[in-house]
Amino acid sequence: MIDLHLHTTASDGALAPAELVRRAAAAGLTTISVTDHDTIAGLGDATTAARELGLTCIPGIEITAVEGDRDVHVLGYFFDPDASALGSFLKAQRADRVRRVHEMCDRLAAAGLDIRADSVFSAPLDADERSIGRPAIADALVRAGFVRDRDEAFERLIGRGGPAYVPRRGVTVGEVVEIITAAGGIASLAHPVLAGLDHLVPELARIGLAALEARHSDHAPAVEARYRAMAAELSLAISGGSDYHGDHTANGASLGVVTLDAADYAGLESRAHARH
Ligand code: AMP
Ligand code: ZN
Ligand code: FE
Ligand code: FE
Repeated sequence: MIDLHLHTTASDGALAPAELVRRAAAAGLTTISVTDHDTIAGLGDATTAARELGLTCIPGIEITAVEGDRDVHVLGYFFDPDASALGSFLKAQRADRVRRVHEMCDRLAAAGLDIRADSVFSAPLDADERSIGRPAIADALVRAGFVRDRDEAFERLIGRGGPAYVPRRGVTVGEVVEIITAAGGIASLAHPVLAGLDHLVPELARIGLAALEARHSDHAPAVEARYRAMAAELSLAISGGSDYHGDHTANGASLGVVTLDAADYAGLESRAHARH
């Protein structure tokens, strides 16, 4: 079984990379990709653990692009993890995440919800390599007793349009596609139903987008079918996975529940090989 969308403690997942891989193996997965937000800090440990357990672990990432006032997630696969332009781009992405967390904490404090920013940054991995995000703010709000759970934090305070929401600053989807491609990888538009960019997909395909993540835990069967049809029309491959963030978290399916078909994976791999 194949799952190409997994998060670890390198970003907002609950499990450390090696532990995630052990759990993936136990759930019957055989080919995986760790796709943390704006960081590849988890790939080394994940790859080592996968090798020990006989799993295939391909390089992965989920990069946040910005289109207008929307965040759009772009997945990258099969890139060279040592590509220096990619590394410095990701470093800038993480710096903007830090900037945004501080600004959101300021807004929360101004609203009487003081969670000290340094309580948001407690982390198991090297702070410079790990990426911070709104889920860490949500968790700090829960710890402080201001909200019940992450969902309430997003709904009332930090979701798009909420009183403490601060937009990301970053590059467009097209630029992210180019950065991933220049690092030898292929780009897939993550959970397109959440991206809300269907009208841009033909243009993105023209500039090198390789795939659509038609298969995702937030895609109902009819939605998956719609993106499969769009991919077929534009000669794009299909990627997919659970978007697992840990057990009992609001987002992402359980391990082994939403997986990618072998035929889809073969199509994705052949797009990657065509690039080398
Ligand atoms: P950020 O990367 O800082 O923009 O935070 C976005 C991430 O927060 C998403 O990738 C999800 O993992 C997570 N997220 C978004 N909405 C929610 C929600 N309602 N409850 C919990 N986590 C969420
Ligand atoms: Zn996430
Ligand atoms: Fe995402
Ligand atoms: Fe994700």
